[in-house]
Amino acid sequence: MNSRRDFLQKLGLSALALQLAPLAGWAAGTDKIEQPYDGPVLRVAIMGLGGYGGMVAQAMQSCTKAKLVGVISGTPSKVKAWQSKYGIPDKNCYNYQNFDDIKNNPDIDAVYVITPNGLHRDFVIRVAAAGKHAICEKPMAVNAKEGQEMVDACKKANVKLLVGYRMHFEPKTLEVIRMRQNGEFGKIRFFQGQCGFTIGDPAQWRLNKQLAGGGSMMDIGIYAINGARYMTGEEPVWVTAQETKTDPVKFKEGVDETIQFQFGFPSGAVASCLSTYNMNNLDRFFLDGEKGFAEMQPSTGYGPIRGRTHLGELNQPVTTHQTVQMDEMAEIIFNNKKPVVPVNGEEAVKDLKLIDAIYLAVKTGKKVEVSI
Ligand code: NDP
Repeated sequence: MNSRRDFLQKLGLSALALQLAPLAGWAAGTDKIEQPYDGPVLRVAIMGLGGYGGMVAQAMQSCTKAKLVGVISGTPSKVKAWQSKYGIPDKNCYNYQNFDDIKNNPDIDAVYVITPNGLHRDFVIRVAAAGKHAICEKPMAVNAKEGQEMVDACKKANVKLLVGYRMHFEPKTLEVIRMRQNGEFGKIRFFQGQCGFTIGDPAQWRLNKQLAGGGSMMDIGIYAINGARYMTGEEPVWVTAQETKTDPVKFKEGVDETIQFQFGFPSGAVASCLSTYNMNNLDRFFLDGEKGFAEMQPSTGYGPIRGRTHLGELNQPVTTHQTVQMDEMAEIIFNNKKPVVPVNGEEAVKDLKLIDAIYLAVKTGKKVEVSI
């Protein structure tokens, strides 16, 4: 395979041309020339300059179709630091009191809400009222009712509502979905999703019912819920769930430590999942069909995602999830592109209905019928 330099030399281009040739226009390691991107760029303001907001901002530096242009924050020192790091002008900086003024800012297309879960609903509704597209982190809300209010507000304002389901764009995940759709596993019978980690600081918002909406289920269990749906390709019709709490001081009323839950699907397939804030090394999906299986571990972490099927190792490329997500979201917003697995508000409400059902099943000890 020719290197890019060899290829340019064959074309007789000079070293100057080599420098000037837009990198994005060349498929790495191949002789294929791609056109540089000259379509619209999604101009995004990030709200909530915390751990994940910082990761998204960094990843967006490699986007071709999306660009970080603004911030919304309650911490002036972070705003200053982000301005100098990412070249953000004063006119694109807001706080939680004045960000409704963003409606008068023609240089921002979308706001990405990356604050604690319990604040997502109100912030997204204000973003929609300002006439901007809303991108919101998972869990989109703390229950299905609030999630539906967000969907309705965005519909009314004629803006898009997308949710940061980065795994919906991950190549190995998409390959397993393709194989399942292609019948390569045969009839799906079973899914197992194990998601968890040992959480630290007891004072953090993730352990505060008001700000988190719950405990591990809201934060990490949602990956198993969402995964059960996209791996099997079916929507659950019943839910059972059991909670274990070993530390009621750290995990207060309404903040779940560990929940095991089960789904039943219309085909007869079942899922058995675990969500926890008190065990490590849990980031594993297993999908079992009559003709084959897929096993992924890590399955939803930042990567590299690893996995194998009955046919061998999955070797699709390793990507930076947030870079791909933001470029794909630009396509969804500008061109109505339909991703293989949806990332819209309606999709998030389905996960929230299942979270509601899991909490109800824990409380009542009963099997809960669901209609997703
Ligand atoms: P952090 O605590 O690191 O950051 C949250 C930020 O929100 C804060 O830094 C702060 O930013 C802002 N904020 C506004 N109000 C409050 C408040 N009352 N208490 C605390 N912070 C507040 O959280 P994360 O970045 O880890 O998580 C944020 C969201 O992103 C959550 O919904 C989480 O589930 C999601 N997430 C998604 C991940 C994924 O892979 N998709 C991974 C990690 C998180 P400022 O000072 O600028 O106002």
